Amino acid sequence: EPVIVPLKKHGITPDRISPCALAVCATLQRAGYQAFVVGGAVRDLLMGKMPKDFDVATDARPEQVRQLFRRSRIIGRRFRIVHVMCGRETVEVTTFRGQHAPPPEERSEYEEEEACEMERVVSENGRLLRDNVFGTQTDDAFRRDFTINALYYDPTRAEIWDYQHGVADLKRGVLRIIGDPDTRYREDPVRMLRAVRLAAKLGFRLDPATRKPIRTLAPLLKDVPKARIFDEMLKLFLSGHALESAKRLREEGLHHGVLPLLDVVLEQPLGERFVTLALQNTDERIAADKPVSPAFLFATLLWHDVLSRWERREAEGQPPMAALQQAIDEVIERQVETLAIPRRYTAVMREIWSMQPRFLNRSGQRPLRLLEQPRFRAAYDFLLLRCSSGELDPALGQWWEAFQHATPEERARMLVKGE
Ligand code: ATP
Ligand code: MG
Repeated sequence: EPVIVPLKKHGITPDRISPCALAVCATLQRAGYQAFVVGGAVRDLLMGKMPKDFDVATDARPEQVRQLFRRSRIIGRRFRIVHVMCGRETVEVTTFRGQHAPPPEERSEYEEEEACEMERVVSENGRLLRDNVFGTQTDDAFRRDFTINALYYDPTRAEIWDYQHGVADLKRGVLRIIGDPDTRYREDPVRMLRAVRLAAKLGFRLDPATRKPIRTLAPLLKDVPKARIFDEMLKLFLSGHALESAKRLREEGLHHGVLPLLDVVLEQPLGERFVTLALQNTDERIAADKPVSPAFLFATLLWHDVLSRWERREAEGQPPMAALQQAIDEVIERQVETLAIPRRYTAVMREIWSMQPRFLNRSGQRPLRLLEQPRFRAAYDFLLLRCSSGELDPALGQWWEAFQHATPEERARMLVKGE
């Protein structure tokens, strides 16, 4: 019962699809299977955006897909999918998934074995732990998250198959969850974060029924594996719409579980200005196709927490550097509990933070040694944000700017004497 939208209505010609995804669909269809480009790629194309990646959905089982492509492998446990490689590109191929495992009495002995492996496994709170029940395309559309993500594009016929009236929602700028919102969020609380991220990215509003349960169900995020939350936060902050996403996270009451400090930080004028500048800066870099460092970003999000702990310890009489180190340890430790920031990032965050006091010292050999630090650039960019946000005198940032570009003679003159 999908609405089939022809080329002359949607205007997406197959040359907009990546060669790899085209080849994968063609091969699957030639072997007698159904194959569609699906999800975010179709959505982005309809909105005139270039998709980041292309996913393919098919009625072929993972093993069957695997056999058709020499350069392919089956990955994943929660969702078993096949990665097909063409050149440097990878296309994810997923088999249509269904809502429910068949009732036990309908299973043959062989299927019983398969069912154990494939069953949807649900936790006490209704969270899906495993979801490998295969189904029809209609089932597959229903278990996707939002109507605009349940669009299937057949490159051979240049048709869009629309099962959930996603095209209409897309035209109206509405993000609507498929099915009963409460149930769908309980199955996978990450969908709440996805709702905010996609709405911010696309400039859409949340349909009222999609929005309503979020505030109440937000605490369920604490049951989700931390690594998944971290991945989602990374997507959110690197989407090019970090500022808008952070604002909406807060509006929906979703930030407690993911960045508990955002609340506190954003309540202080300096903190709010600092985080706003940092997120703006990230969005601008992404718009300009410049690389963004997640560690830098998380260092900015947590800085005002570090700062207030540091100041408190100093006020209690601890020496400044020791106070800073302890503040850093505390913040990292707390954050690892909620966000699971990987160690390769926390190590960089520590470096950026620990280097901050060293910028205050403008005498002797120390400024020269600071310039030679491998992490100087990041720490200096961080300093500039502190200056722009009003935390530090902008003259300090200007001094360092000039010092970096000065000749050795000029540098010698710039160094503060007798400090
Ligand atoms: P992006 O532009 O960030 O890639 P996307 O919608 O493509 O957005 P993916 O994470 O790549 O997001 O997921 C691909 C598709 O898989 C989605 O469009 C959606 O149909 C489905 N999907 C992803 N995550 C979920 C989820 N948690 N629950 C249900 N369906 C999901
Ligand atoms: Mg995608």
